[in-house]
Amino acid sequence: MSVAEALVVEDEGAALFRAIRAELLDEYRQDHDWPWIIGYSGGKDSTLVTHLVIEMLLSIPPSQRSRPVHIVANDTLVESPLVVQHIVESMEEIGNAANAFGLPIVTKITRPSPDQSFWVNLIGRGYPSPNRSFRWCTDRMKILPTSRYIKSQADEAGQVVLLLGVRRSESATRAASVGRYDNGERLNKHNDLVGCMVFRPIVELHTDDVWEFLALNEPPWGGSHLKLIGLYRSASGGECPVVTSKDDAPSCGTTSSRFGCWTCTVVEKDRSLEGFVESGYSEFTPLLDFRDWLVSIRNEKERRQARRRDGRITITNGGTFVPGPFTLQTRAEILEKLRRLEHATGQSLITEEEIDLIHQIWSGEIADHGKAKTFSVREIVKDRKHAT
Ligand code: SF4
Repeated sequence: MSVAEALVVEDEGAALFRAIRAELLDEYRQDHDWPWIIGYSGGKDSTLVTHLVIEMLLSIPPSQRSRPVHIVANDTLVESPLVVQHIVESMEEIGNAANAFGLPIVTKITRPSPDQSFWVNLIGRGYPSPNRSFRWCTDRMKILPTSRYIKSQADEAGQVVLLLGVRRSESATRAASVGRYDNGERLNKHNDLVGCMVFRPIVELHTDDVWEFLALNEPPWGGSHLKLIGLYRSASGGECPVVTSKDDAPSCGTTSSRFGCWTCTVVEKDRSLEGFVESGYSEFTPLLDFRDWLVSIRNEKERRQARRRDGRITITNGGTFVPGPFTLQTRAEILEKLRRLEHATGQSLITEEEIDLIHQIWSGEIADHGKAKTFSVREIVKDRKHAT
């Protein structure tokens, strides 16, 4: 019985989970050797998928565990501190259990290349803090690192199956993006990644089904899901989903993605950090203040250069002048404040490699400064696309 049929016949959680387990097993036993890749965000949905897959692997004889399963998480390098800690710890627990049980599991945490990190773009290149119309971060910090890994596996194996913990009932946005794949097939081609098929085993589950399962079942890698449940309680909300395409990206940096980057200036208020602070993690208050400060300085005219990084001046079709990146003074001020924040909180918030790259970019800009650039009228950009 398919998951959809189980829904029609009886609206019962147990039947649904039975159908999901059967579908996972059936897909794993298909006559090809495409590796599985689980997009793991550390949130409830991808944790459930990981739980069910590991349970399935344990239920079959070792000789039948021929298909490798990669569990891939992404760390933007500016994740909420408690969330990244949870991801790292749970991945380690899963990896240890997989070794102990002899399961064909590979755990991998992807990260943006240092040259494309939040701080190198914001402080180095002076990109204004991301907002809804200039959200430069998701692609660089989330989509690219994970996609690179998936592509490398697809190139090696010819094809991969990406298991996503997306659910139709999660949100209206999610329902719309899930709907794109509703063609009656279990596996669907990924919109952007060649050689990648998408499998959504828990798409029909409701939020209550997920929580109930996690509360009642201990993870096969040991411990309990109570830590995760506590994390949600503290953050008082949703999660930042695994993002592997631009279609998934609208849910990144919204009020429904409260496990996002602690630096996120796309959300009006960082609900997850606020939730953690309200739950007693007062050590995050300075981070919250720093993020709010980044939001507040974004549109201060004197903090922005007149020209874009390539020397052009931007005027929209409507005649509005669009300022360029943060001035070098402001970038230096942000870096100094960030270092002071590290000192005050005892947390490492930026790497030495990022600081070196920032200084290299600044040096390059200072060297370029003064080399007069002359643009024709045609070259003066009149493009709404770059309006911030
Ligand atoms: S959570 Fe915010 S800062 Fe992080 S990638 Fe998404 S939109 Fe950008």
